[in-house]
Amino acid sequence: MELVCPLCNNLEEYTMECPMCKENMMDEGPIVNYLDDYSPYLPKDITQLVDGAEHDKCVHLFRCKGCNYDKRVEIKRIKI
Ligand SMILES: [Zn+2]
Ligand SMILES: [Zn+2]
Repeated sequence: MELVCPLCNNLEEYTMECPMCKENMMDEGPIVNYLDDYSPYLPKDITQLVDGAEHDKCVHLFRCKGCNYDKRVEIKRIKI
């Protein structure tokens, strides 16, 4: 068995509602592709989660089509 991120592997679609304008937020891909040094840029709650998360989570960036609001979302890896 292997732990994989369902979004990176196109196993699941994940959409969420923008808290600002209620548009759909789209997955922009895993955050590791965007940032090498993430700590100063992340809000506190995410940083804590990342510290404890290690390899069972994949952090994706979601961006709103409507207002360009972006948000990091932890995706739990699944066993296949
Ligand atoms: Zn992923
Ligand atoms: Zn929005």
